[in-house]
Amino acid sequence: MKSLYGKFLLYTAGIMVFSGLTAFLAVNTYYHRNLKDSNDDKNMNIVRQLANYIEETTPEELDLYLKTQASAGYKLLLVSDDLEGRRYGQSFRLDNLKEKDVKSVLNGGDYHGMKNFPTETFVTGFFSDETANTVGVPFTYRGKEYALFLRPDIKLLFTEVHYLLGGMVIVMAIASLLAMLIVAKRLIHPITQLTLATKKVGKEEFSGILPIHQQDEIGQLAESFQKMTKRLKENDLIRKKFISDVSHDFQSPLLNIKGYAGLLMDETLPNEERAGYAKVIQAETDRLSSLTKQLLLLTSLDQMMSPLKPVTYDVSEQLRDTVRKYRWLLEEKQISLSMEIEDSELTGDPAFLEKVWENLLSNALKYTPDYGTIEVSLVSTEHSVTVQIGDSGIGIAEENLAHIFNRFYREDDSRTIAAEGTGLGLSIVQQVTELHNGTITVTSEKGKGTVFIVTLPKL
Ligand code: ADP
Repeated sequence: MKSLYGKFLLYTAGIMVFSGLTAFLAVNTYYHRNLKDSNDDKNMNIVRQLANYIEETTPEELDLYLKTQASAGYKLLLVSDDLEGRRYGQSFRLDNLKEKDVKSVLNGGDYHGMKNFPTETFVTGFFSDETANTVGVPFTYRGKEYALFLRPDIKLLFTEVHYLLGGMVIVMAIASLLAMLIVAKRLIHPITQLTLATKKVGKEEFSGILPIHQQDEIGQLAESFQKMTKRLKENDLIRKKFISDVSHDFQSPLLNIKGYAGLLMDETLPNEERAGYAKVIQAETDRLSSLTKQLLLLTSLDQMMSPLKPVTYDVSEQLRDTVRKYRWLLEEKQISLSMEIEDSELTGDPAFLEKVWENLLSNALKYTPDYGTIEVSLVSTEHSVTVQIGDSGIGIAEENLAHIFNRFYREDDSRTIAAEGTGLGLSIVQQVTELHNGTITVTSEKGKGTVFIVTLPKL
């Protein structure tokens, strides 16, 4: 059975058959253990009363008397001492009373056929319409010995109530089976929808919302599935965009290198021009190299849950060292730098945090024209360290501020000003800051300058 629906039906039918059989077995056992004896006693009392009445009152017509009694719901068998039998009421289905049993009653004994009715047969003796399944007593009528055997006439005993009850059980069984079919179909429907949706996602089709709105476990499963699909869809889009951005960013320097290498092959080229082209090739290979380095860094940040190896170290010294590294560039562009760095320690990954300061400082330098200013400060409080890097550079347009942390995003102005950018620096800065449970904010005004503020908890 492959489908859940089929299994559900099979189990329901199985449970019904099993419970029916168990109930039948239990009722049978109860009958054989308790009911058989009491049934025998009850009927023995009745047949005894009949016999006593006959002996005490000697009715005029024995036949008429027994006929009247039989019509009250009994089957009677009267056997005279010459073994002549007469029946009253409906005839028995089977005439199997043994002669020795008849004789023993005629000789004064009682016959307990109901109590001793064989138990091996599974059919309950209660319904066996046989002369062996009776109770019998002797009596004397007008000087002659008789044996009187009796059993209740089941057909007469079955009243309308019994039929009603029987009908009720059958209707209940059919109704519950039908209800089960409908309930099973309703229960399994959302699972079928979920299965179809999973197959679609397997084929990278993320569209379509599951129309499942229920509060139970299946509803929760559908909701989680929905959320998962949304994430997968987003990731898929990011992945595709990332690949196209990377290819594009690799493509343009490669084309430049190819073009200038072609030009260099011209042997008549003056030395000055040759040197110029070689410089361009060198700049483009530098760009490709920094692009691959940054991509590797981003991938390592993406892949691991926490790639950080935190230690407690002197962050103020690290910031001062980073500024020192850029001294020659500052001098070259005649940019004045002011530094207010408080001494402070921090728990974090020094290698990754160094990338944060490097990226922010190199951006400030890149996007600040000659003779501009850069301010670097570090403020330390009990729980956090705040590093602020501000410049008097080209600034960022307000509408672009929301995008600058996106991978490969570069403002058009910056493309013309600084060709060596990759658009990956700030997304690395943001990711590293977040991995340290810190925050990064930016304020900027076009043409006036930009301030980045990084706040990191000390832990
Ligand atoms: P890039 O390699 O282009 O500098 P980043 O991710 O570091 O890439 O920065 C993304 C963009 O944000 C830059 O291209 C630039 O447009 C803008 N930007 C970043 N820092 C500054 C700054 N200090 N002044 C002006 N614009 C900046």
